[in-house]
Amino acid sequence: MFSRGFLSLSFCLFRPQIVGLCALWALLSGLMPMMVNSQPRSVSQRNGLKPAPRTQETLPRRAWEKAKARHKGPGPALLITSPRGGETLSRDRVWFGGCTEPGCEVTVNGIAARVHSTGAFAGMTQLHPGRNTIVFRSTFRGQSTTAQVPVAGPSPEIPVPKTPLAIDAERAFLPSVDMEMLPGEILRVRFQGSPGCRAWFGIRKGPSRCGMRELVPGKDPVKIAGVYQGDYVIRPGDSFVRSPITVTLEGTVGKRVKTVSARAKGTLTTSRKVVCGYALATADDTGLYHDLSLQTRLTSVAKGAVLDLCGRRGDLRRVRLGEDLFAWVRSQDVKKTSEDAALPLPLFQKIEMQKDPATSNPVLLLRASRPGKKRPPLSLPFRVETPESGSTLTLTVWGLGSKEALRTLEKSGRKSGGALYATDLLLPNEPSERAPLASHGISRVRYRQMDALTAVFEVPLPWDLVWGYDARFEDGVLRLSLKPPPVLRSEPGRPLAGLKLILDPGHGGEDTGAEGCGGLFESDINLEIVRRLSVLLRRAGAQVEMTREDDRQVSLEDRIQRISRSGADLFLSVHNNSVPSYENPLEISGPRAFFYHGHGVVLAKRVLGGLAEETGFPWQSTNVRFHVFRPMRCCPQMPGALAEVLFLSNPEDEILLLQPAFLDNACEGLYKGLLAFVKRQPLPLIPAGTATGGGGGKMTNDE
Ligand SMILES: [Zn+2]
Repeated sequence: MFSRGFLSLSFCLFRPQIVGLCALWALLSGLMPMMVNSQPRSVSQRNGLKPAPRTQETLPRRAWEKAKARHKGPGPALLITSPRGGETLSRDRVWFGGCTEPGCEVTVNGIAARVHSTGAFAGMTQLHPGRNTIVFRSTFRGQSTTAQVPVAGPSPEIPVPKTPLAIDAERAFLPSVDMEMLPGEILRVRFQGSPGCRAWFGIRKGPSRCGMRELVPGKDPVKIAGVYQGDYVIRPGDSFVRSPITVTLEGTVGKRVKTVSARAKGTLTTSRKVVCGYALATADDTGLYHDLSLQTRLTSVAKGAVLDLCGRRGDLRRVRLGEDLFAWVRSQDVKKTSEDAALPLPLFQKIEMQKDPATSNPVLLLRASRPGKKRPPLSLPFRVETPESGSTLTLTVWGLGSKEALRTLEKSGRKSGGALYATDLLLPNEPSERAPLASHGISRVRYRQMDALTAVFEVPLPWDLVWGYDARFEDGVLRLSLKPPPVLRSEPGRPLAGLKLILDPGHGGEDTGAEGCGGLFESDINLEIVRRLSVLLRRAGAQVEMTREDDRQVSLEDRIQRISRSGADLFLSVHNNSVPSYENPLEISGPRAFFYHGHGVVLAKRVLGGLAEETGFPWQSTNVRFHVFRPMRCCPQMPGALAEVLFLSNPEDEILLLQPAFLDNACEGLYKGLLAFVKRQPLPLIPAGTATGGGGGKMTNDE
């Protein structure tokens, strides 16, 4: 469905977790039915560049050098970079890539593959269900080298035969995990059995015969006959504690009616005492997700945040945020308190302003209080949203009520303007000892109590853009620091004088990132690009810091610390891409860029526009909020973006990355993009309509 509607991915980031990534890729693709395709073009079509002779390659292709050094035997050396072997793949096609001596003939499972000037080759090969062995052979003047890579194809879907009447107790049987549910939620029961029968399910100490229907292949999302499904809506009076769920299948064998039964692995609990309670997040950056597959992050909470629990699905806990808004959190990320009773609702008190003593930036302090004593410290789940353009920042705090809102509701029973209660909170505009902030011009915060549990604060900032923020609960007070846009110095020929940037070359050391078909390590090329880019930026007067300056491993946590504490005005992560296992590497090439926060959207667009302009690749829209790369998510203090320069899975892209002239063009593009962002200018060659706001930048993922 989305093999051509391609936008952007970043498999390079997560080689150790390829399986999880496929799911991410599927999600991103599913969200974006869109976009410009990158048409693979020959090297000579792009910029008129020709593959450089080997001696002029910028960097050693380390994986290939190693493979050559290790190689013994009369045939040519042969390196296989994809698949790695041992994977279980979800689709019936997988991409392959590797390298041999230039001029050799390569076959993959007997089918010839094109060998590029570097010796790299890539393509797609077919898999059958179960075990597969992919056989690579490279031949030069009658001498061959063979490599065999074992992978597992998609598991076959095996229907249950019509006779004897049977239920498959293992496969596709729901619920497969223990469920804790509240009234109104829907319990879905599903199993696979002999087709063409009648089926129902029962819950112990509850309904004994809930009807199920057989799903229709082609019409329902199933491939084979014999899948039965039914739902039960939890009722207010239900009280189950780990009740087993039993399904029954009834069919006619000869002239006799027969039944078989089986019990689902998961049980049902609906008792309030078991289902509800409170938990504390056990780590910083604990994810709260919209969906059970944990693909779409709604927000993150800090260690110690108090979460209102109201359900469970196996290893996931359900968290109540607003009156009608729920999220999922991993059980391992929270510690349930012994208290089952509801905690008193914290009430909003007031907003104050301070000046950050270190940076002089304005800080908003949101004060609230929880009635009663001996309660967990006040740290609530919240989310800050920043706009792509404009200067109003929105803070949503969940689990926060208000005296005024309750009073309004009691008095009139009316809601005000879509909210329970709304008002403008005026901040002091005269400098004083407590609020010496008049120069920043933040004079008012719009406060709306959306429902009993959801408080929303809109902060109009006195700048042309929201540049960055930092928000955290400290001693029960939510501190929101706001960063004004940088002020550049006017120096002839140095357009970035006064700007401080932090550049983050992806991977390094043991973590080599994606591997080019020709054996180029992503960590090497990322660093080379950042080095060249830093020269351009410094020449333009910018102060440049890097998260690593050589080939060393830097953890994501260290990168986050480094970036967030750098005091920089901008950050850019530089990576190179690789396709997921089921995409054709020859069809996908060119630059991509990503953002997470709203105030990084335009930066990502400008960087991508600059790359496209200077390298001659088609301009790609970038509109996926990319929540997996933690440094981008966890560093909202400044606009940040991640650029994926080219695809290492594409041999032609890799050849370009090996050429100094191409790298200079790419760095010029990144530089122009950064400059355009800082100067608030579009790039001249970006087609109208994609350069600003408009279609190209719409965020469809509203997490
Ligand atoms: Zn990467």
